[in-house]
Amino acid sequence: MTKHIFVTGGVVSSLGKGLTSASIGMLLEQRGLRVKMQKLDPYINVDPGTMSPYQHGEVYVLDDGSETDLDLGHYERFTHSPLTRDSNYTTGQIYLSVINKERRGEFLGKTVQVIPHITNEIKSCIHKLADDDTDVVITEIGGTVGDIESQPFLEAIRQFSLDVGKRNCLYIHLTLVPYLKAAGELKTKPTQHSVGQLRQIGIQPDILICRTERSMSREDREKIALFCNVASEAVIEEKDKDFSIYEVPMSLVNNRLDELIVDALALPADTLRLEKWRDLLHNLRNPEHEIAIAVVGKYAEHRDAYKSIYEAIDHAGIANRAQIRIQRIQSEAIEQEGVERLLTGYDGLLVPGGFGERGIEGKVEAIRFAREREIPFLGICLGMQCAAVEFARNVIGLAGAHSTEFNKDTPHPVICLLDEQKSITDKGGTMRLGAQTAHLTEGSRAAAGYGRQLISERHRHRYEFNNLYRQQFAANGLVVSGSSPDGSLVEIIELEDHPWFVAVQFHPEFKSKPTAAHPLFAGFVAAAVERHQARGSATQRV
Ligand code: GLN
Repeated sequence: MTKHIFVTGGVVSSLGKGLTSASIGMLLEQRGLRVKMQKLDPYINVDPGTMSPYQHGEVYVLDDGSETDLDLGHYERFTHSPLTRDSNYTTGQIYLSVINKERRGEFLGKTVQVIPHITNEIKSCIHKLADDDTDVVITEIGGTVGDIESQPFLEAIRQFSLDVGKRNCLYIHLTLVPYLKAAGELKTKPTQHSVGQLRQIGIQPDILICRTERSMSREDREKIALFCNVASEAVIEEKDKDFSIYEVPMSLVNNRLDELIVDALALPADTLRLEKWRDLLHNLRNPEHEIAIAVVGKYAEHRDAYKSIYEAIDHAGIANRAQIRIQRIQSEAIEQEGVERLLTGYDGLLVPGGFGERGIEGKVEAIRFAREREIPFLGICLGMQCAAVEFARNVIGLAGAHSTEFNKDTPHPVICLLDEQKSITDKGGTMRLGAQTAHLTEGSRAAAGYGRQLISERHRHRYEFNNLYRQQFAANGLVVSGSSPDGSLVEIIELEDHPWFVAVQFHPEFKSKPTAAHPLFAGFVAAAVERHQARGSATQRV
């Protein structure tokens, strides 16, 4: 029978609930258990696809084309949990489904209410993941205990243990234990209040994971245990990690979290195997190279906007034994301050995906700089489209070339709308989304990196390379090295005469793992390391 773990959060948001849930999933997998992961988000948007990165960070795309919360990225990077549309539900989706049922008359004249109709719908979304091939389902509840929006979700998970039996459910609550400088001590009161709120709803947490800047003493732990009605060994410290998020599972293991869970749920677990993870941390701690990579995007100040890109760069660093300093650069700043001033000195340059015209010319300038100065370049989605615009304008000589997303009347629409997109007016879930197969050209840099000719990568775009210009591009040295199997859509372009210049219409960052860097990111970082070394020996010779 499938067991259920529910992860809630209290005191403040941004405690790293997603990361902690992913770490728990990883530890259980490394004990031989089959894990599925899920996030329930209390906001009313049907999915985060229509939300600004300022509001919600990156939109994480799954193989099946669903646009989901970025925490699912952590799940995929830490575990092998198969993620689908059922792995992320929002209040919007839940209500939409209940309202559609009501319109179809499925409630047989009853008054439709939060309890039981909305809570039943939530419970059915959790039940969907339980099957014969799954030992544990981990369900993370977004938001913070005490939020009005979270109430139906908390009520649903409370009821859940009545339905499946108390011994089959485990409630883990993540809280903050802040250090008060003036008092010189850690404060447990916010945790007591947060657990108090949970208990008011009828949920008694089994395990508390306490985020803290400083180590907790035995007294702190015992105090929390007493006031929160939790065993003191079930009060787990999760201290801030300055070095890497990949240390989180290790600190949870040190506090025996995996044992607690396995015992509480009587799971048929093996002994823990962490060799691969230890190797990863070893490589991370003992780099042989040090390089700097600039990520030139619309958002520089906002860490979550290109979350998976930064992670994938880190993975490639691990694979290449390179410590990478990632510099986030706002493309608009390049327009104001000049490319030379802002981009000199980097070993590699990456332009990520995006929407909207702001900062486009800065990206085009940055790509020109990478092409002319032979700096390794990786362009992703909008980054590829900007690379095509740059090449068209500055190499082929097509003045005014642009994407029709930004200039409908451009004389040279080298990027234009996909045919199937032309009649679409709705914004939500209507792009070319999810996994698509691509065929790689033999002998290309892309094919060499992947080591095969058929690949599957995730997409999220409306515009594409305009085939009318393919010949002209090729004649000038920018080749198509990957395309849809029927050849109609351009998926990868690369420069023949450049140390490493590859741009892709898809999002490779969504398929990179700390233990298995994505081949394109690995190749990009390898080229950056090579450039760094060549520059180093050039200066030595002088
Ligand atoms: N805005 C571009 C498009 O819709 C690129 C999208 C992206 O980078 N994800 O095609």
